[in-house]
Amino acid sequence: SFILFQDQIIPREQGKVDIEDRGYQFGDGIYEAIPVYGGQMFLLDLHMKRLKRSANELRLQLPFNIDLLTEKLNKLIGLNRINDGIVYFQITRGSAPRQHFFPDQAGSILTGSVVSHDWRGNHDSGIETSLAEDIRWLRCDIKTLNLLGNVLAKQYAHEQGSQEAILHRGENVTEGASSNVFIVKNNHLITHPADHLILNGITRLFVLELAERLGITVDEQTFTLDDLFSADEVFITSTGNEVMPVVKIDGRTVADGKAGDVTSKLGEAFTGEVTQFIAS
Ligand code: PMP
Repeated sequence: SFILFQDQIIPREQGKVDIEDRGYQFGDGIYEAIPVYGGQMFLLDLHMKRLKRSANELRLQLPFNIDLLTEKLNKLIGLNRINDGIVYFQITRGSAPRQHFFPDQAGSILTGSVVSHDWRGNHDSGIETSLAEDIRWLRCDIKTLNLLGNVLAKQYAHEQGSQEAILHRGENVTEGASSNVFIVKNNHLITHPADHLILNGITRLFVLELAERLGITVDEQTFTLDDLFSADEVFITSTGNEVMPVVKIDGRTVADGKAGDVTSKLGEAFTGEVTQFIAS
């Protein structure tokens, strides 16, 4: 397979990063993961906008502009013959003798890869989740390579036999380890506001737009663990999971244990948009 290294597409085996790369030593970098449907990147502009925001917040220079990046990612998708999948890329602050403050002379390093993903179609059965305290830093809005809080929560969920961890700061639910969390109560949608405590998921933003189009009312406001357990429906959103029903939380069944009506409606709307996108 092929990968992207700076603006070059090279065989996977030839991708080598220096041991003093700041991404490796400090987690000093950012990333994006963009869904590919029918060989094309979906919601590309929103992902690139978030990338630029992450870079700005960390005062990280992109190694080249978004147009060239887009061109190279498309080439990468084509060369790897990806139909449905995810393109992943990251940018670090480059390689320099190890010191915490920013180096003067290190150029940013961009690497990217693609995976084929056959995740579509398992939305009916939903997923089981486990609760985990959200121990992450206070800038969860930046899509950084520092994912230890997420990794530990996901590992815990995995050991419980769950597919995702639902994170909470004390009584308040924030988001998933790698997803955003929505609840439905009386046909009304609630999800954590896009502040510093969550990553503003692109799928989250798209689902909010779909909800508006479908006439489903939404509140972007914090909700509690009690709200979570008394919800009519719970679902998560992410690039990999699209709209995914949550049927269990810490072993407790959500409502009747099946995907709810509002969740299904949003899931169908999402799939409809993807189908249109592929055809366009
Ligand atoms: N929150 C976190 C912590 C994530 O890692 C992700 C996925 N990268 C999301 C939310 C969902 O974001 P998106 O819909 O852009 O994939």
